[in-house]
Amino acid sequence: MTLLDDTARLAQAYLDGLPERHVGARATAAELMAALGGPLAEDGADPAAVIAALARNADPGLVATAGPRYFGFVTGGSLPVAVAADWLAAAWDQNAAMYAMSPAAAVVEEIVGGWVVDLLGLPRGASVGLVTGAQMANVTALAAARHAVLQRAGWDVAADGLAGAPPVDLVVGAEAHVTIGGALKLLGFGSRRVRVVPADDEGRMIASELALTLRACDGPTIVCAQAGNVNSGASDPFDLIAAEVRARENAWLHIDGAFGLWAAASPSLRARVRGHAFADSWATDGHKWLNVPYDSGLVIVAHPAAHAAAMARQAAYLAPGAADERSGMMWAPEASRRARGFALYAALRTLGRGGVAALVDRCCALARRMADRLRAAGVEIMNDVVLNQVLARFTPAAHSDGDSGGDGDAHTRAVIARVQADGTCWLGGTVWRERAAMRISISNWSTSEADVDRSAEAILAAARAG
Ligand SMILES: *Cc1c(COP(=O)(O)O)cnc(C)c1O
Repeated sequence: MTLLDDTARLAQAYLDGLPERHVGARATAAELMAALGGPLAEDGADPAAVIAALARNADPGLVATAGPRYFGFVTGGSLPVAVAADWLAAAWDQNAAMYAMSPAAAVVEEIVGGWVVDLLGLPRGASVGLVTGAQMANVTALAAARHAVLQRAGWDVAADGLAGAPPVDLVVGAEAHVTIGGALKLLGFGSRRVRVVPADDEGRMIASELALTLRACDGPTIVCAQAGNVNSGASDPFDLIAAEVRARENAWLHIDGAFGLWAAASPSLRARVRGHAFADSWATDGHKWLNVPYDSGLVIVAHPAAHAAAMARQAAYLAPGAADERSGMMWAPEASRRARGFALYAALRTLGRGGVAALVDRCCALARRMADRLRAAGVEIMNDVVLNQVLARFTPAAHSDGDSGGDGDAHTRAVIARVQADGTCWLGGTVWRERAAMRISISNWSTSEADVDRSAEAILAAARAG
């Protein structure tokens, strides 16, 4: 089968070139459209020629997000062993919807779910669903929450829907990720119903403010907290938050921990998410910090019955299987699914508990190194670098009348644009406490100290160039 061998060689050549490639894309949308597009011909083409042309024409539009100097958004790479397992998953073409469709995929999902619950220090017996990412993990967890709090209030949302249901109080931190709002919207909760709890300077929900907010809630309540702010990396004070939530009769605590929850897998960082296990549900990603290929998210629920009830679908041909025969679609909103468990399995088996902790610790140490390098050159580091995120702000040296806000904003954005164009590394911008910031996330297994030093130099050169 030379097609797959040849394709593996193309993939290997890409990976070999990854560390030294220009990190950002090098083609415009119009150029890519011209190279890849055109009408779909009546007659097909030779598969080898299609793959060769795809690899050649897509190349300038590829971003080296898997490489060691991509610091944009919060983006992990892919461990080689996880790519290898994903290749097998694609070749096997297993459907992870139901046990009968792939006992191997079902059993591996079950194993991986147990490992992740254990690694993250979550309650034994929690149910786990494999979803596309933290967005759908948030949707799934909050669907379980909606089901549970309404059931406790005597309302069956699965049968009777939301119209006429007891109102649910929704409480989120001021710095909640956009996907929480997206999840609430999909679940039929309007944004005007959401109560927002103020956050502190690092973006953490303020527990005493939560207490005040909860006083105004008198029905079923869902509170969404966060492990790992996408800008600062800070996590909410879960121990204090959980105490407030638990003091209420009918409240559910959800934690969005797309990347930040992995701090729980590191003995040296675990204290940063203290109390996280007291929640009722958690959302996290495999494709960010665990460095498995897209798309890989995990939803974990401490109340399996609510999780299953929220996802349940029944039809005569959907054989439920025996008690030990896991049905993936019981725990996720999708039916047919790629068997994501294999890549997670290979990554976790290869790393072991120590390897996961070392991966997380190493990224955090590299983030501190980046912050130190920039700070030493006079750059303002805007956040407390508690995890893998660094926020930097650049002030133009020439106008020595200080950081006049607007000036610093424009300069910071210009530095970011120059770094992106230079291609040594890639990072994006954000607004942090109403000031423009450069946002650096270190989440890749292959990033080294040399990569950080080289990138810091490129960033400082871009700052001097303006
Ligand atoms: C990335 C992220 C998400 C969304 O995750 P996807 O994997 O893109 O669906 C949600 N919450 C937080 C805190 C994130 O960092």
